[in-house]
Amino acid sequence: MKKNILTGDRPTGKLHIGHYVGTLASRLKLQEKGDYDDFFIMIADAQALTDNASNPKKIRDSIINVAIDYLSIGIDPKKVHIFVQSEISELTELTFYYANLVTVSRLERNPTVKQEIKSKEFGESIPVGFFTYPISQAADITAFKASIVPVGDDQLPMIEQTREIVRSFNRIYGDVLVLPNELLPDNKACFRLPGTDGNAKMSKSLGNCIYLSDSYEELKKKVMGMYTDPLHIKVEDPGHIEGNTVFAYLDAFSTSEDFAKYYPEFKNLDELKKAYEQGGIGDVKIKKFLLQILEDFLKPIREKREYYEKHLDEVYDILKEGTMYAQSIAKETLKEVKNAMKLNYFADKQLLDDFNCD
Ligand code: ATP
Ligand code: MG
Repeated sequence: MKKNILTGDRPTGKLHIGHYVGTLASRLKLQEKGDYDDFFIMIADAQALTDNASNPKKIRDSIINVAIDYLSIGIDPKKVHIFVQSEISELTELTFYYANLVTVSRLERNPTVKQEIKSKEFGESIPVGFFTYPISQAADITAFKASIVPVGDDQLPMIEQTREIVRSFNRIYGDVLVLPNELLPDNKACFRLPGTDGNAKMSKSLGNCIYLSDSYEELKKKVMGMYTDPLHIKVEDPGHIEGNTVFAYLDAFSTSEDFAKYYPEFKNLDELKKAYEQGGIGDVKIKKFLLQILEDFLKPIREKREYYEKHLDEVYDILKEGTMYAQSIAKETLKEVKNAMKLNYFADKQLLDDFNCD
């Protein structure tokens, strides 16, 4: 059995550090390990349109930006196929067949979709495409026979939905589809990075992001304006770690080397947390520490981005090649799916042989 990986992002803007810790870092690790047959990264423009139908320009404009983000963090197009979802119409066809295997009430129970419907303030006007996007995500994953899907934890309900579809399909039509497994980050703090405003999730749609492409000035403004602990007013006041965004980011990004380099009064984050809780450590101090760590992380990414911004033809060719390859694979899977469903009337004359006028 082949070992394939599929993952992706919605081109609703540039990628942010939440994407990095939640899923991009796992992708880089997988890429370096090389223990796979095919590795696909999908720019999910069709999915992004499900809640951005009236703003197609935003989606179109973000495609190249997301591709540049991938290349800037070190995704290697020789090892990974980057492709654009809408170019692969086979995915839509699979979605249509899978939709028969899912009930409306099952979709209504999806906690991530529920949460998103609330935060996007759809009210009674939920687009059907948006409501059913977990089905289209199942098509994306299964079209590439992916057994590993590196994601942040908001995507777990989608993987579960995909597994249910795979089981139903294979039971009814025969063993064609591959059961996928999510790959979450090792560090729990990276499952869902909060927004700079203290919201539980950094998300392009919520405008609370630190982007991989942010300049030092933008980064500084965001870090210094970050939500911390509203009860920590004077430096001497005891501080709270729970719900404190700066500490959530330090949990995700800081290492003991960072302490040795920038904050030698403490050996590691546990020591800093204890001291903060006792009082006497100002928010400005911890924000400056975080700023140094994030700047060290973002600087090389920013520099690589500059290169690709000057070599857009390279980016374009990478996307085109990746998309063509992905299409050839999705085509094969769709053929297998339709054969299993006996939707292959004109492949031979079996339809007539089977015909019985009674
Ligand atoms: P949108 O607001 O348009 O949905 P998003 O910021 O949620 O955008 P997606 O493109 O939906 O980003 O998510 C792509 C991948 O990044 C998914 O695997 C998701 O789990 C992961 N991810 C997104 N935001 C975070 C976050 N704050 N922390 C960890 N992982 C995240
Ligand atoms: Mg999202």
